Amino acid sequence: MIVKPKIRGFICTTAHPEGCKAIVKEQIDYVKNAGKINGAKKVLVIGASMGYGLASRIAAAFGCGAATLGVIFDKQGSDSRTASAGWYNTAAFEEFAAADGLYAKTINGDAFSADVKNQVIDIIRKDLGKVDMIVYSLAAPRRTCSDGTVYSSVLKTTGGDFTNKTVDVKSGEISEVTITPATEQEIFATVKVMGGEDWKEWIGALSSAGVIEDGAVTVAYSYIGPEITHPIYKDGSIGRAKDHLAATAKEITKSIDGVTAYVSVNKALVTQSSSAIPVVPLYISILYKVMKEMGLHEGCIEQMQRLFAEKIYGGGVKTDENGLIRMDDLEMRADVQEKISKVWNSISSGNISECADLDGYRTDFNRLFGFDAAGVDYEADSDTAIGIPSIL
Ligand code: NAD
Repeated sequence: MIVKPKIRGFICTTAHPEGCKAIVKEQIDYVKNAGKINGAKKVLVIGASMGYGLASRIAAAFGCGAATLGVIFDKQGSDSRTASAGWYNTAAFEEFAAADGLYAKTINGDAFSADVKNQVIDIIRKDLGKVDMIVYSLAAPRRTCSDGTVYSSVLKTTGGDFTNKTVDVKSGEISEVTITPATEQEIFATVKVMGGEDWKEWIGALSSAGVIEDGAVTVAYSYIGPEITHPIYKDGSIGRAKDHLAATAKEITKSIDGVTAYVSVNKALVTQSSSAIPVVPLYISILYKVMKEMGLHEGCIEQMQRLFAEKIYGGGVKTDENGLIRMDDLEMRADVQEKISKVWNSISSGNISECADLDGYRTDFNRLFGFDAAGVDYEADSDTAIGIPSIL
């Protein structure tokens, strides 16, 4: 079929197979050109099909030369319906990995479930023996726990109402949005979904099964951001979950032998999950404009390549005084943030095209689903039913 984007709010319900493949290839080429990384050799990536997880898998495989096992939660396509973008990304990743002689297998299922954890353990035992790195990069709206309880995360404040500017990415219209406070129950649920509990369950299960190499590293991702976004992010319900994630890193390191856990604070970027947060897309559009003009802009792959090459494996893990790896170092630079604050105060629907990189935002959003890739013929027929080699 000829695949066109079908955007509904902040999701696109179609994905382009060749486009996804081209964008995965661009990321692989970036990592290969950046040079070899003396790092992990057997890597498990949980949440491996999109955004930071996919970029981590690419950095591990094509930078470190690692065997990778990925956990994804994606939809297969058919002749009449496209797969999810993560499915096509993973199919392409495995194909490129095989071409370079790299081991790559993928499990498609709910990473929160005991069943998927057991499947992963079985494959590691059979194929790899042990893993020396575990990347935990889930961004999920809900979690079903082992007793059947379903928790849904919310993006709300934890104080009073918060009113600020937000943008309709499609029209470029700026308006005010008011975000209401989460209830204690909603905060609890958000921590259940996006906090560290499941990360610790993963590491505990892998450790008990004896499939973690002594001296292994595990990393999960967080965000802090500037004051403009604090009420909705750092001090909001999601921020509570991220606090829990950071506390869990310390707990894992203390209570599970042979593994050290880190939280890496990454840069704000357009991904499927960040586009759902009010206020943040406007901030990201301004951030893109400022960082591109200053020659400091990075996407997921630049961030993850640098994380692996410089912060985790380039001669000892580099953290701040709180034990956090700071991949947001460039975003949070005082000169970058000063420029953003000035723009934030004066930006309106009338001047958005000069003040923010809305086109860059839109392009990155389209590229999440395989659209806007260079060299792809979007008028040609696509095989939407392609399989992931290790699954089908
Ligand atoms: P994303 O939406 O691009 O990717 C999330 C991944 O998790 C996808 O591959 C998805 O398929 C997978 N996933 C979701 N639920 C799953 C489940 N139940 N089982 C298995 N896989 C599942 O998100 P992202 O932005 O790359 O986020 C990854 C992490 O990075 C999150 O912890 C997020 O908070 C953090 N982070 C994101 C940003 C940002 O600006 N995007 C910044 C800093 C930190």
